[in-house]
Amino acid sequence: DGRLGELVARRQRAFGVSSVLFYEQPLEIARAEGVFMFDASGKPYLDVYNNVPVVGHCHPAVVAAIAQQAGRLNTNTRYLYESLTTYAETLLGTFPAALSNLSMTCTGSEANDIALRIARAWTGGSGFVVTETAYHGNTSLVMEVSPSSYRKGRELPPHIRTIPAPDSYRLAPGEDLGEVFAGHLQRAIDDLEGSGIRFAGLILDTVFSSDGVFADPPGFLARAVERVHRAGGLFIADEVQPGFGRTGDGYWCFGRHGIEPDVVTLGKPMGNGFPMGGVVTRPELLECFCAETGYFNTFAGNPVAVAAGQAVLDTLQREGLIANANSVGGYLRDGLWRLAQSDARIGDVRGAGLFVGLEFIGVDRAPDGALASHVINAMKERGILIGAAGAYGNVLKIRPALCFSQANADQFLTTLQAVLDVG
Ligand code: PMP
Repeated sequence: DGRLGELVARRQRAFGVSSVLFYEQPLEIARAEGVFMFDASGKPYLDVYNNVPVVGHCHPAVVAAIAQQAGRLNTNTRYLYESLTTYAETLLGTFPAALSNLSMTCTGSEANDIALRIARAWTGGSGFVVTETAYHGNTSLVMEVSPSSYRKGRELPPHIRTIPAPDSYRLAPGEDLGEVFAGHLQRAIDDLEGSGIRFAGLILDTVFSSDGVFADPPGFLARAVERVHRAGGLFIADEVQPGFGRTGDGYWCFGRHGIEPDVVTLGKPMGNGFPMGGVVTRPELLECFCAETGYFNTFAGNPVAVAAGQAVLDTLQREGLIANANSVGGYLRDGLWRLAQSDARIGDVRGAGLFVGLEFIGVDRAPDGALASHVINAMKERGILIGAAGAYGNVLKIRPALCFSQANADQFLTTLQAVLDVG
């Protein structure tokens, strides 16, 4: 309508080319609750895309914690207040014992920036290996390991090597995914070293979300991590997307692979929408980094952020949301596989817990990004919000709040079927 058009125009005038919006016909969101967002007219949309509100949009426990703390104290993080330490203790309690130090940040990008700097400081190297369609954030250092954005018209810097994502769907018969992925990694490490660039580490998104949501088989990353350590580098697990229980088998997706990262980075769901991020690592790695530059962040871990973060952890626990992610995620994937059996355009259904990918294909498994884009817009018209990932944008990225129910999954399945039956 006219008002919406005017709002889009105002936004574009204010933000120029940096104004980015979802959808051909943008949606004005007025409020949200649980797994639903509501537009300005009050129409509900089932939010199947958003991994930020991990315990549900505007969860009353998180809202109350933020409001109470905002009315009591919010200040520079150089003051001493107990809630920050209590939060750190609770969070670190979900990690393997060796990963015993936390640094707070405000975003996932800052967390990854610190992780890269830890690896540079520890190894004395600058060479990093990343997957081809990875995204790890927007600082100048992190952009270097974010080929999905950086590559737009530019070559990556000479100390970065990219390797193909572990594509479980396009594996040749008889091939072992862990072996293939570790092989690519080893060649990249050898190539760096052959160019006189010391290897600093491997950074990866533990579900490879922007690469197309690859999570299986559990354990396949172990061999790659072994190669990283043999070459003297650090393994950085970016848990900004899958962390805080989304994959349904524990708080952290790296657990699925039986591996222990040297550095883990956190973001998006950490504050259920309140800007928060973090870096979890071993004390000696943090010491090495801090000896070079020190670390201080005015807002990171401030009392209001910590209140939000603590409420997220408490709610995940109290409401059994990780187990829910596991059971509803399994139910959803089963339903999607049933759809796939009667629709050849669905090539693969994959993922773990409530982090699910659905790949659209044409003949000879050719990626069909146009179909994904049609489905995303058609689903919106029918009240469901969803997004896409992968180098060709042909993989539906399904990441609802962890309180997603079987009834919500049924609504998603019925609507997807209806959209596919029409188109
Ligand atoms: N890592 C991953 C895997 C991400 O998906 C993102 C954001 N999309 C980031 C890091 C960066 O987080 P932020 O936008 O909070 O800086």
